[in-house]
Amino acid sequence: MNIILFGPPGAGKGTQAEKLVVERSMVQLSTGDMLRAEISNNTDLGIQAKEIMDTGGLVSDDIMIKMIESRFGSDEAKNGVILDGFPRTVKQAEALDEMLTQNQLVINHVIEISVDENALFERIERRANESDNVRDDDNAEVLRQRLKVYHDNTAPVLPFYRKKGILSQVDGMMSIEEVAKNINEVLDS
Ligand code: AMP
Repeated sequence: MNIILFGPPGAGKGTQAEKLVVERSMVQLSTGDMLRAEISNNTDLGIQAKEIMDTGGLVSDDIMIKMIESRFGSDEAKNGVILDGFPRTVKQAEALDEMLTQNQLVINHVIEISVDENALFERIERRANESDNVRDDDNAEVLRQRLKVYHDNTAPVLPFYRKKGILSQVDGMMSIEEVAKNINEVLDS
């Protein structure tokens, strides 16, 4: 089973993906984590991406599509993948569709984790204050920009999946356990 966890920054996609990895032996493909790995390794792509990420923008579609392509066909993806943070634009969603068709794969569920955006600010501020926080893009100013980018570029991806009949919504404002339970119900349906 292949799924997409969808939602604005801070919705809890990463937290829920990590639970699914443990509970269902799926592989998490987080483009944000991949970019942060490039930054840690000080690669050219990492240096370029950091500037964009720190200001809340989006890294180019071509780069992101290639990044996902290189992982999707690999053996690790055979048990099913959780896409976390991809696709973030309609162009990425269309490229993903093509990639899946070529590999005779499908996305079974797209789960939108919906949140109250005022509460998001509190959540991000809390995350920014955590002592082990390593993300430069966790602050209210960048979050505002990331939310704008989400509405302008990422939310328009939703109708693409609604039309395919694979989109479900869960309330991301509940506890981590409740959200996980609702996601599992969708996956088992
Ligand atoms: P995330 O960890 O998913 O919140 O991503 C952190 C940042 O990485 C985003 O704000 C973007 O700058 C960049 N990024 C992650 N995934 C993508 C993507 N699919 N397309 C473009 N930029 C991305």
